[in-house]
Amino acid sequence: MSGYHPDEITLMDYSAGTLPMPQSLAVAVHLFMCQHCRSQVKQFNNLGGALLSQAEPRELEVQGFDDFMADMDKAPVSEAAKTHARHVNPLQAFLPQPLDRIDWHKQTRDIHEYDLTKVLEAKGFRIALQKIRAGARVPEHSHKGQELTVILQGGFSDELGVYHAGDFISRDPSHSHTPTALQNEDCICLTVLDAPIYFVGRFYRLLNPFLRW
Ligand SMILES: [Zn+2]
Repeated sequence: MSGYHPDEITLMDYSAGTLPMPQSLAVAVHLFMCQHCRSQVKQFNNLGGALLSQAEPRELEVQGFDDFMADMDKAPVSEAAKTHARHVNPLQAFLPQPLDRIDWHKQTRDIHEYDLTKVLEAKGFRIALQKIRAGARVPEHSHKGQELTVILQGGFSDELGVYHAGDFISRDPSHSHTPTALQNEDCICLTVLDAPIYFVGRFYRLLNPFLRW
């Protein structure tokens, strides 16, 4: 089982279908690899169903709760949750080739990318696969928004921990980090950004025009 998971609010939003699609995809890919979170989502799904069947109309007037229930009514279980239920890695549906035959776009000697934004209509998000050469370091960068990362193969470390296949990592503008791929194999991640990242090192600032969306 992976060691880093989405927080409970994220799993609840996923279950309710209120998470934006790109972030839902990241959660679904994690769920594919994480039994622990799958059972949590199942509980939330059951709870959502029970609430829908038991709620009295007057209870729905409680502030905030009616919006929650309205969303639940529209999409009690998200599309990504349904995909997950079929026990197929949800990412596969969006890839033209299997992961080991992806037509990578070279960004630097150590970093390759495959942009999924074109095929996913990500509306304000950037979704990409990134491949970091084994042992290579990604230039230090920070975020203007949230960055979700799900590791599909290999692993990396940064100032806050060591991450392996299946791990779900969330970073926000308060984090600046320098991921380094583990030595044993290339690291492949799914990343979802709701705002561009920017490089903070003096030299690597030059990369920003190329690597931002
Ligand atoms: Zn998990």
